[in-house]
Amino acid sequence: MKSDPFWWEDAGRPDGPSAEDLPSEVDVLIVGAGLTGLTAARTLARAGKAVLALDAMQPGEGASSRNGGMIGGGHRLAFETMRARFGHDTALGLLREAHLDSGTFVKSLIDAENIDCDYRESGRFRGLWRDDEYARAARDLERLQQLIPLEAEMLPRARQHEEIASELYRGGTVFFRHGGLNPAKWVGGILQRALAAGALVQGNTPVTAVERDASAFRVDTPRGMLRAGAVLAATNGYTPAQLASLKRRIVPIPSFIVTTEPLGNDLVRQLFPHGRMIVESRDRHCYYRPSPDGERIVFGARAAMFDAPESLVLRQMRGLLRQVFPQLGEIDFSHSWRGFTGFSFDFLPNVGKIEGIWHAMGYSGSGNAMAPWLGHKAALQILGDPEGETAFSRTDFPLRWWHRGRPWFLPFADVTFRLRDAWNNSRRVTG
Ligand SMILES: Cc1cc2nc3c(=O)[nH]c(=O)nc-3n(C[C@H](O)[C@H](O)[C@H](O)COP(=O)(O)OP(=O)(O)OC[C@H]3O[C@@H](n4cnc5c(N)ncnc54)[C@H](O)[C@@H]3O)c2cc1C
Repeated sequence: MKSDPFWWEDAGRPDGPSAEDLPSEVDVLIVGAGLTGLTAARTLARAGKAVLALDAMQPGEGASSRNGGMIGGGHRLAFETMRARFGHDTALGLLREAHLDSGTFVKSLIDAENIDCDYRESGRFRGLWRDDEYARAARDLERLQQLIPLEAEMLPRARQHEEIASELYRGGTVFFRHGGLNPAKWVGGILQRALAAGALVQGNTPVTAVERDASAFRVDTPRGMLRAGAVLAATNGYTPAQLASLKRRIVPIPSFIVTTEPLGNDLVRQLFPHGRMIVESRDRHCYYRPSPDGERIVFGARAAMFDAPESLVLRQMRGLLRQVFPQLGEIDFSHSWRGFTGFSFDFLPNVGKIEGIWHAMGYSGSGNAMAPWLGHKAALQILGDPEGETAFSRTDFPLRWWHRGRPWFLPFADVTFRLRDAWNNSRRVTG
């Protein structure tokens, strides 16, 4: 079984220029060259700035080329919760940007830049785990549709087979404008457009220190030191110890994905009649979809909250896939890989400046649209452009006194989630 992401087979391993000499001075230095950093680099270069994006691995090799390839917005928080916390206008802005603006932005980027990334507006089905969730989900959707023009509808359990050949869920919600893509091609396309716009991008070059003096930042790398007028941290779930204030605000939670051996187009179409992306409401949070060629299932889950051994992950993934599609029997996997998501403590991304360093991060597991959108917004804020305004600069990006940077608590959180899973399972009405 291959341990590289399935996506790299078609897109090639993440690769970028890495032989050039580093400049001694730039206007903006970006730490991290994934969807956030590369979109910001493109926007800044197009505005005429001297911009350099450095990545400790290859550009795109973090979460951006290893994710599930599902694209489309949403929040983990209900509107009323966000309104109570941030006020009506900000809460509405958060909704609009996550559900509408970010999607419009990425679609126009794909079109305008002609990025071939197997994008398809397939729609997404969110399956509900418990019967008692249905009425609440229907109320939430109705409320959302009063606030924003969201193309979605509830699907009762009796009609669930229209979307998925599984009895596992208790009905759910269909989001018609969500879609799927090959994430390695997506981030690779943005890399090429950032380079074409004049940005410098270098892989295998970790930033080892960032220090501020009177007029600029001093940035250290193993390839030498350089000076930058501004620094943008775009490291999300890979945020390093050197960016201590940001690392304390982000919890790096691993997510695991497998791909089945080819099952054939006919079988995959029977399982996913409209080819939709599938997510679910339970904490274990499986997310799965047909591969772009319609031959396989790409199946992701939070199989563990920590960087678990592969044997444990495979056991979990087999069990979860069998739970969804028991009719498949024993299925062989062709690929199994993992990556780090970056969760904030309020489950909301944030754009802003802390101790002089700009940041855009905290996508909490959903960054294919939000990371480019907020990378672009961060770049506009650096440029002083009023278009950089975003509701995601008006949220908190909170700290917790017990998180000093090393996520020691994740194995304990794993146990809590397992207990919650068991509790939720026991509350499922069977039949
Ligand atoms: C397994 C998995 C499945 C997911 N599925 C989905 C999905 O289906 N849909 C969706 O919308 N989102 C999904 N996500 C989330 C999404 O991939 C991320 O939110 C998004 O890619 C974040 O992009 P980014 O550019 O901010 O961070 P990343 O792509 O993670 O890039 C951060 C980069 O920072 C670099 N870095 C770290 N330290 C340094 C340093 N000191 N110097 C230089 N560089 C450094 C790293 O090498 C890394 O390349 C998933 C994530 C994972 C891990």
